[in-house]
Amino acid sequence: MATKYIFFTGGVVSSVGKGVTAAAFGKVLKERGFRVAVQKLDPYINVDPGTMSPYQHGEVYVLDDGAETDLDLGHYERFIDIRLNRVCNVTTGQVYAEVIGKERRGDFLGGTIQVIPHITNEIKRRISLVAKTTGAEIVLVEVGGTVGDIESLPFLESLRQLRSDLGRDNTAYVHVTWLPYIGATEELKTKPTQHSVHELRSIGISPDMIVARSDTPVEEDLTDKIALFCDVEKRAVIPMVTTPVLAEVPLMLEETHAGEYLLERLHLESRKQPDWSAWKRMVEETRKDKPEVTIALVGKYVELHDAYMSVREALKHASLALGVSLHMNWILSTDLEKGKCMDLLEEADGVVIPGGFGSRGIEGKINAAHYARTNRVPYLGLCLGMQLMVVEFGREILGTDKVNSTEFDQTTPNPVIALMPEQEGVIDMGGTMRLGLYPCVLQPGTIAANAYKTDEVQERHRHRFEFNNHYRQVYAEHGMIFSGQSPDGRLVEIAELKDHPFMLGTQFHPEFLSRPNRPHPLFVAFVRAACEKAGIPFQDPPFDFDE
Ligand code: GLN
Repeated sequence: MATKYIFFTGGVVSSVGKGVTAAAFGKVLKERGFRVAVQKLDPYINVDPGTMSPYQHGEVYVLDDGAETDLDLGHYERFIDIRLNRVCNVTTGQVYAEVIGKERRGDFLGGTIQVIPHITNEIKRRISLVAKTTGAEIVLVEVGGTVGDIESLPFLESLRQLRSDLGRDNTAYVHVTWLPYIGATEELKTKPTQHSVHELRSIGISPDMIVARSDTPVEEDLTDKIALFCDVEKRAVIPMVTTPVLAEVPLMLEETHAGEYLLERLHLESRKQPDWSAWKRMVEETRKDKPEVTIALVGKYVELHDAYMSVREALKHASLALGVSLHMNWILSTDLEKGKCMDLLEEADGVVIPGGFGSRGIEGKINAAHYARTNRVPYLGLCLGMQLMVVEFGREILGTDKVNSTEFDQTTPNPVIALMPEQEGVIDMGGTMRLGLYPCVLQPGTIAANAYKTDEVQERHRHRFEFNNHYRQVYAEHGMIFSGQSPDGRLVEIAELKDHPFMLGTQFHPEFLSRPNRPHPLFVAFVRAACEKAGIPFQDPPFDFDE
């Protein structure tokens, strides 16, 4: 069968949940027996978000192949339970770099290089790579930003061209908009949606479906009105009310028959009856009142929760499986340096130090690790969090404060965390870390091996620094177990403390592989330890929503 494409554009305002909507459509289609993949087109000129501040962009999501991508790829992977690759996140920067590279090589034989056709051809080539590299039968493509932005014009023009390139039966356009609520008159307004569709039309794209997002229920007269003014069928106007439970979105879509409508438009027939029973149970469980577990997350970007999207999601997945509800105490690491916010730490049943870069707030995170170790509070360190757990423990056992990672003190006499040899001399900051999937061999009998219930795992990485093997022996003598290592034994992948209920750090990022219906084993082990420590009743064995 010809590859089918569904294009998602956004209207009215940003942040209406276009990524979640696209992911939910992917889930609805996968449930009907199709192989799907999702691609995000990002209009910014950065080549990837790897070098962007999390304040600007939220978390950097890492794929198996080491691509540093937009956090929407996390939504796609988690919802649809798929593994994507680097062609699934395209930026304007990548497109121009490629075209200019070709121009410099003389590939265009003296031609004048223009947005149409050269840039649009490169965009279309990249869209075509998704099906080729993933085997997807239906490719969902989300354009970042909002219709009307200057930056996204070449992407929208490419999507317009694809309808004539690929044919009407193989392409569908879904426009996701926002219905503002006017408090004074107590009504939702469709005018911005009309304007946005008008704008899209002026570019040459007529949407086949409109997803109308709103904070309050959308009555039928309103969807009828949108259908009439925007020239789409009534059943192709899909109201989508805000829900705090993201996993509910595919179920809400299902009720509107939006998936069936798109299949019909693309001349496809469902291959199987969707079975939502396990997913529904999961959503019901989420909605229940449950005992609460409090987890402190200490970071330097905590004002923007999106900067830790996957960590929070992984904690939620684990809590859900354990039948407890997650409460997070977000703690700014610099506050802990000033002795502030200790109450938030003391209140917590477990402490997470996530990944991070740069020295701001580092001592605050080390304080948090010290607190967790000495008070026997469960601790989960992710990448930087593992490195700081090593630094903190080193200060204790080596009896000096002059223990550090060379990332923060290049002249420390005790560089217990040091630059990986292959990183020396690396000048380019973009895409040059140790990135993506690498194997990790587990030592039987450890907390890590017991959690994973296996002897080797593959996890996603993003780091330049590593445990300095020079210190392995002395650490081991004092009770640190290197429970996960690279197969050649050279690199410490997981460290844990012997005389502690749960103090464990990973050099990799387990959060990227957690799924709502298949929580990551290390997160489950950590949240379980937090519940045990605080005497919070939990579900044992954990719920299994993965049938
Ligand atoms: N900055 C540390 C390193 O480069 C940790 C990276 C991370 O937490 N992702 O190794």
